[in-house]
Amino acid sequence: MSTAPTTAPVSAPTSATRSVLVVGGGAAGNAVTILLRRAGIAVDLIEAADDWNATAGSGITLQGNALRVLRELGVWEQVRASGYGFDAVGITAPDGTVLHVAEDVRTGGDDLPATVGMQRPRLQSILIDAVRASGARIRLGTRAESLDQDGNGNGNGNGNGNHDRDRDGVTVRFTDGTVGRYDLVVAADGLGSATRSAIGITDKPEPTGMAIWRVAAPRPAGVTRTDLAYGGPAYIAGYCPTSDSTLYAYVVEACRDRAAIPRESYADEMRGLAAAYGGCWPEITEHITDPAKVNYTWFDRMLVEGSWHRGRVVLVGDAAHCCPPTLAQGAALSLEDAWVLARMLTSADVWDDALLQAYYERRIARVRPVVEASVRIGQWQLDGDRDADVPGLMGRTMSALRELP
Ligand SMILES: Cc1cc2nc3c(=O)[nH]c(=O)nc-3n(C[C@H](O)[C@H](O)[C@H](O)COP(=O)(O)OP(=O)(O)OC[C@H]3O[C@@H](n4cnc5c(N)ncnc54)[C@H](O)[C@@H]3O)c2cc1C
Repeated sequence: MSTAPTTAPVSAPTSATRSVLVVGGGAAGNAVTILLRRAGIAVDLIEAADDWNATAGSGITLQGNALRVLRELGVWEQVRASGYGFDAVGITAPDGTVLHVAEDVRTGGDDLPATVGMQRPRLQSILIDAVRASGARIRLGTRAESLDQDGNGNGNGNGNGNHDRDRDGVTVRFTDGTVGRYDLVVAADGLGSATRSAIGITDKPEPTGMAIWRVAAPRPAGVTRTDLAYGGPAYIAGYCPTSDSTLYAYVVEACRDRAAIPRESYADEMRGLAAAYGGCWPEITEHITDPAKVNYTWFDRMLVEGSWHRGRVVLVGDAAHCCPPTLAQGAALSLEDAWVLARMLTSADVWDDALLQAYYERRIARVRPVVEASVRIGQWQLDGDRDADVPGLMGRTMSALRELP
């Protein structure tokens, strides 16, 4: 993507209606779209994939603070009905012996479960329906090719005093050759955000040294919460119920050279690790047979510091921060970003540099401790630090999230 100027004709926003382009239709982009549309803002959403729900993956653990935002989006009842709610996490030995059951912190408040496990494609389809119903203009299989900011693009307007700084905006040329003009661009294009680099933010995700094997499987009757086995051939073997009939299971180990693992061996690789675990694992392991249904991913970390915007382009979600899912907070923080940004935009008279910087200040204070704790917990495992106070750090970090973002 370039930031070259464009000469093609553009459609100007009316003075009454503000317009926003949302780049990326994951959790963050969908959430911000729904909330901005509710306030009557004109939203175009572009999604690079032709099939919006193609890469949605196996399962997701939604903590209370994610559920709180989903309730704000108006989809909580559907999430509750489709997912599997629970309030505790079990710690087991590799043979399945339950060592400890801890009550989970209800980060979304006492009127929501601590946790809901969900099939990712189901969550995504609920959000897609809500985006479609919001009246946003949606274009799939489309990317932004260039972003041309008014002024110098550094958030200070063009400095010549000849235009209304509040209406600084961005002219966007799309890959289908069309051009649009927006008051604001929200970059919700995830971890590898092309928009982030197009506006000159050079941060990139870095591997943490860990990787995860994941699969969806039928739920054995005995699985009624997340159980985590520490030790054995992997750092962690865990599972989370995602509906009455399903769960997702995962095994975390040290990163390996992805290119050296043949795709057709994925089921064998995961089953080989999972076979060392007892309890409900044998029932799960017998379903790890299809390599196409097994996912292998490295854990990454990134935290953009200083500001999350340049001019009138602002980052949300994984485009701004990502961390290993040791606290299962990535999507929760992304949903919170969307909620906070939408609230600030819809309650401000002026969309300017100060507003977008205030958004960053509000979010970084909440996001930084979660990213740091998530990374630290993974690092303790990599270092084999047996004295590390994992429950203490988890408890402190999660308790702080009970506060409204
Ligand atoms: C292994 C693993 C397990 C995880 N487990 C959990 C968990 O249990 N709980 C939890 O809360 N979080 C979890 N996370 C984190 C969570 O998945 C992410 O934080 C969340 O998906 C981020 O949402 P997002 O909308 O910012 O980005 P994404 O979900 O990545 O969405 C980005 C969207 O933008 C689109 N896109 C990309 N580039 C472009 C472009 N140039 N133009 C237009 N569209 C584009 C993509 O196709 C995609 O649809 C996990 C992450 C990993 C890696």
